[in-house]
Order: sequence, then structure tokens, then C-alpha cells
Amino acid sequence: MGKIILTGERPTGRLHLGHFIGSLKNRLLIQDNDDIEKFFVMIADTQALTDNADNVDKVKNNIIQVALDNLSIGLNPNKVKIFIQSQVPQLSEITCYFMNLVTVSRLYRNPTTKDEIHQRGFENRVPAGFLTYPVSQAADILGFNTDLVPVGDDQLPMIELAREIARTFNNTYGNVFKEPKALVPKQDVCARLPGIDGKLKMSKSAGNCIYLSDEPEVIKQKVMSAYTDPDHIKVSDPGKIEGNVVFSYLDAFVKEDSFKKYLNEYENLDELKAHYQRGGLGDVKVKLFLNNVLQELLEPFRNRRKEYEKDLDEIYRMLFKNGELARQEVSKNLERMKSAMGLDYEKFLIK
Ligand code: ATP
Ligand code: MG
Repeated sequence: MGKIILTGERPTGRLHLGHFIGSLKNRLLIQDNDDIEKFFVMIADTQALTDNADNVDKVKNNIIQVALDNLSIGLNPNKVKIFIQSQVPQLSEITCYFMNLVTVSRLYRNPTTKDEIHQRGFENRVPAGFLTYPVSQAADILGFNTDLVPVGDDQLPMIELAREIARTFNNTYGNVFKEPKALVPKQDVCARLPGIDGKLKMSKSAGNCIYLSDEPEVIKQKVMSAYTDPDHIKVSDPGKIEGNVVFSYLDAFVKEDSFKKYLNEYENLDELKAHYQRGGLGDVKVKLFLNNVLQELLEPFRNRRKEYEKDLDEIYRMLFKNGELARQEVSKNLERMKSAMGLDYEKFLIK
């Protein structure tokens, strides 16, 4: 039996470079692997509502954007099935049963939820749905009997909880679930790409993103305004690499031939970094190089997106069709789960 992959995003905005390098790129790299049996990408509208209950339009309107972004990078829709979470109500049923296997204090200890509660100013008024969304995410993952979840490192506590719930369920009712694994990029900078402001991770909610669909002039303007080293005032000053977003992005996105194409006076990134640290290399030059690297990456995505945008009806039809596939898949696992729990009441009818 091949591997089952599940991953996804919340439809709270268009996807950005953080999504690409944290999760989408790994999707591209594995989509053609022979050992993959099923590959689902979930647009997590139900989860997005847990902190956007009063902004349904935002969530609804971004479903198509997230679908387009996934297709724009070159995911093959014949292999990768993109669907909408709320079209698989079986996931909510699984969530209900899982809710009894986790304590409230365990949910409060989740470091990602803790950060997010703080960022959203929810301290005294956490919506119950928001606190418990990691349980519903565990239901998404286990509901598909998932082996591998390509994600950024902010999601590791969620995968850990899914593993714990799988273990608790198996110990309580019998062996039903596998313990899923996270597929996180090896380089730290890719597992949690910083935003252009240099403060937090790049995140739709923080408004510090370069979007995959940004036009060339917007990309350039964002790159030129990115946070570098505030003490690097004159070109001759020595500069810092640590916390310097422009170098973080170069670490994440520079390709083998980038220097030959756009900045051939340097052999590689180490040489460029050494010059910056010594002094004598200005921010503008490094930023223009980064701009070239990012323009090369994003141009084909933008062009592919424009092709897909010509027939949105077709994309919605694909999402709904995949919803049916996803329902079938999750229903199978829900049946297995309910029968392990002894909730298969149809047995009573046999007599
Ligand atoms: P929101 O602010 O609404 O939570 P987000 O930008 O954090 O949005 P999500 O939809 O929550 O995006 O994240 C989807 C996936 O993208 C997750 O696997 C997450 O780990 C990954 N991801 C998001 N931002 C980054 C980032 N800056 N670096 C690496 N991976 C990221
Ligand atoms: Mg997030």
C-alpha cells in the first residue's frame, strides 16, 4: 500500500512565499513519487472560521484564491485532489469523538495556539472553536488515514497532537489509526520563513507577505522595503546577516545558477555574505539580486495562474468533484472508527 498525503491551508488570503517554501514546494517534489497512493490538499474553510466567524465573506472568497495558488505552482490536478473542508461533514463527526480524548489544559499548552491567541488579542475571549481547532485538525489528518503531512514548523505541535490522539484512540478502542508524520523542510529558514518586516513568520494575518500572485513591480517594491540590518548605514559599514530578511530569503531561494545569471562577480552566497559582513557592499545591490531571484521563481506561477483564472467554473467543478472523493475516503475511516468504538448500531438489526 502506498502513502496517503494530506495537507492544506486556511482560506484567509492568497498564498505567499512562506507557504511555497514551507509546504507547497514539498508537494511539488513528491507529487510524482511512485509510493504515493493518494494525495489530498484541503482548503480549511471550517478552520478559518474559528477566528473569522464574523467574516464569512473573506473565507468564502479566498477559497478560489487558495485553489488557484496551489494550481499555479504546477501541482497536477489529476494526482493532487484539492477539496473544501466543509464539504466533508464526516470530519466534524470525527472531531466530536476526538474532543473527548483531549484535556482543555493540553490544548492551552499548544505553543502555536498560544502565539496565535496572543496575536489575535483573544486572551480573555478565546472562541471555543479556536482553542479546539487542533483537535479538528487531528480529525482531518487521521480521517484520511494520513501517512505524511507536508507543513511548516508552526504545525509540528498540531501533528504531535494528532499522533497523541491516534495513540489514545488505539489504546482505548483498538487499533484503527496510524501515527502520521510531518514533512518539514530541512533548512530552518524554509520551515519558518520570516516576513518582510523581519519580526514574525511571514503570515497572511500579519500582513508582511510577498504573495505568489504579486505583480513584478509589487514584488520589487516589497523587496526594496524589506528589513535588513538597521546599523548598516553606509555601504562601507560591516553588516549583519542574522535577522537580515534579505539574506534569509537568499538562503531559501537562491539557485545554483543565480549568481552566474544575475551577479557574476560572486561565486556563491558565502562570498556575498562575507563581503556584506566585512563592509563595502550596499543593501540596494543585494536587494536587486534578490529581486531577480524572486522574479524568476514567481513569473511562471503568475502565468499559470492567469491561465487557470480564465475558467473559474471549471475549478469549482473540480473542487466539488474532489469533495465527493474526500467524503468517500473519510467515510471509510469513520466506519472503521465507529465500529472499533462499538457505535455500529446496525448490528442490532441482524437478529
Ligand atoms: P493565517 O495567518 O491565516 O494563519 P498563514 O499565513 O499562517 O495564515 P496557514 O494557512 O495557517 O497560513 O498555513 C498553511 C501552511 O503553510 C502550514 O503548513 C504552515 O506551516 C505553512 N506556512 C505558513 N506560513 C509559513 C512560513 N512563513 N514559513 C513556512 N511555512 C509556512
Ligand atoms: Mg496559520
